[in-house]
Amino acid sequence: TAASPPGHVVLLASPGAGHLIPLAELARRLVEHQGFAATLVTFADFATPDARSAVLFSLPASVATATLPAVSLDDLPADVCLEKVLFELVQRSLPHLRVLMQSIGSTAGPLVALVPDFFCPSALSVAAEIGVPGYIFFPTNLATLSVTSRAVQLNDGAAAGERRALSDPLEIPGGVSLRSAELPEGFRDSTAPSYGQLVETGRLYRRAAGFLVNTFYELEPAAAEESKIAAENGTFPPAYPVGPFVRSSSDEAGESACLEWLDLQPAGSVVFISFGSAGMLSVEQTRELAAGLEMSGHRFLWVVRTPSLNGESFAFGNGADRRSNDDDPLAWLPDGFLERTSGRGLAIAAWAPQVRVLSHPATAAFVSHCGWNSTLESVSAGVPMIAWPLHAEQKMNAIVLEESVGVALRPRAREEDVGGGAVVRQQEVAAAVKELMEGEKGRAVRRRVRDMEQAAARVWSPEGSSRRAMEEVAVKWKAALASAAKPPK
Ligand code: UDP
Repeated sequence: TAASPPGHVVLLASPGAGHLIPLAELARRLVEHQGFAATLVTFADFATPDARSAVLFSLPASVATATLPAVSLDDLPADVCLEKVLFELVQRSLPHLRVLMQSIGSTAGPLVALVPDFFCPSALSVAAEIGVPGYIFFPTNLATLSVTSRAVQLNDGAAAGERRALSDPLEIPGGVSLRSAELPEGFRDSTAPSYGQLVETGRLYRRAAGFLVNTFYELEPAAAEESKIAAENGTFPPAYPVGPFVRSSSDEAGESACLEWLDLQPAGSVVFISFGSAGMLSVEQTRELAAGLEMSGHRFLWVVRTPSLNGESFAFGNGADRRSNDDDPLAWLPDGFLERTSGRGLAIAAWAPQVRVLSHPATAAFVSHCGWNSTLESVSAGVPMIAWPLHAEQKMNAIVLEESVGVALRPRAREEDVGGGAVVRQQEVAAAVKELMEGEKGRAVRRRVRDMEQAAARVWSPEGSSRRAMEEVAVKWKAALASAAKPPK
């Protein structure tokens, strides 16, 4: 008899390159390691069309792609929260998704699973109609999933319109205690619309058969164990740590002035500074960071952005899209800074091939906003971090990375500045850089990140933790397909 068909997995990515990149990597592994067919579906995207086409272009031919037709969101009020915009986008696109899945099922099927990312759980209803399991792809960490699951459980049985706030402080797995202001944004204030939206989204997660999480067991063992217990008790679906999904450095082919510069630097000497695709510092903070780098005496490679003038710490969209229309960010650096640091420091505008920079032998440390992709890239390259969180769940990530994982140091913003916008002063920047590069605490962090690098390198080997977790899920998908394929008696 012919081999039974491998089955087709449909993956659905919400807008934003930060979600699409790891989901694309998951799709590739499902095809290459598990033998499934896969289609990666995106929305006719309003934010990052360039980044999206770059990611889709770099997929192997074995992963099919499809784009859902645009839907109108014009009727939404102008001040609506981003969570709500995404929710509506997905909701209104469900009829298109249904048609697409039916067509894949009849031409390239049989379908075995739908994997929407964490902003698209309403798509689980389409999976249920079609009769395949739905698994939520979680592009960030188990810590965020843990906070989400607590908020959902806490609000079980709440009256309509009632929102129960998470405790302050909140203990999360790994011995970490978070104040409200350190929680992922959206979970900080139970009276804000985004809190309600996150609780609603979290409730929809309960329809999922599980979560595929872009992390690995060794990085968040306590959170992984907590999630096992929640799954056994039936309070929340099981989470499978199947990452890290990190872009390969070959995605960043081509010449780059900063890589040529790195080639000229001694091994393990350079501090790399970058705040993700959207992060921005204030004018004052940019100056303090510059002065601190200068004061540290260490070599550095700094991806400089035009500072934020409105107090926002990020611009939604994609840094790559801004490369051409940024004005000159270097003009905001202190007078004479570039001259005084020339030879040991390089400041570049807007964007660097980060994965290649982090894996370059000259790179010793990473001043990072702790975006989850950056974090995984840093850990996978064995580069210790100075945690400089800006938005989203980054404050929590910074604390987890310092206190629980031990791969980062956190500079402290001066107390008296808190409230008027916390500023990390130059002395603190210099002290953190020197500690990480030369100090005792720094040595422990450097050692720990090398352990994590080795762990990360093993997780997708045949007996690795992520590979086994993925296999556990794949076996379920294949079994469901086999039983469905049995001819009726
Ligand atoms: N990135 C890059 N060059 C830059 C800035 C960012 O290649 O100059 C990439 C980085 O490698 C990572 C992604 O953009 O893959 C940023 O994702 P992350 O989750 O760290 O942060 P976000 O941009 O979502 O805040």
